[in-house]
Amino acid sequence: MSSIFSKIVNGEIPCHKVAENDKFLAFLDINPLAKGHTLVIPKQEIDYIFDIDDELYKELFLFAKQVAHSIKKCVNCKRVGIAVVGLEVPHTHIHLVPINSVYDIDFSKPKLKLSNDELKMIAERIGSKVVL
Ligand code: 5GP
Repeated sequence: MSSIFSKIVNGEIPCHKVAENDKFLAFLDINPLAKGHTLVIPKQEIDYIFDIDDELYKELFLFAKQVAHSIKKCVNCKRVGIAVVGLEVPHTHIHLVPINSVYDIDFSKPKLKLSNDELKMIAERIGSKVVL
């Protein structure tokens, strides 16, 4: 059975897409810690990030870097934090979270409730500035 993120890759489940190429996809987290919280995934379904082969691993992080630069341009924050957890969805994903303090990337804190319209606007804004 394919992961929920593979369903997103295949267009079976909608997402607020930020950027993509043939190998990777970036989209907004559905339960964000902050406005602009983005997930970056390989389109290939690989559960554990450290099982990814070296070439794809490097490319994944370079793709995430470009997305992070764009988030920083679009969201008022000190830094874009990066985290890999992967305890909920068994498909490698990098969290990119705009942060002003360490608390902003505390995954146990309550998530934001953003409207569909707001998520759409944020995704479009970040996506428009991604340079791949
Ligand atoms: P983790 O596996 O890193 O612990 O957490 C998975 C993350 O994926 C969570 O932050 C959760 O909000 C997000 N997530 C889970 N299901 C979906 C989904 O269907 N769409 C989107 N956009 N994000 C999801």
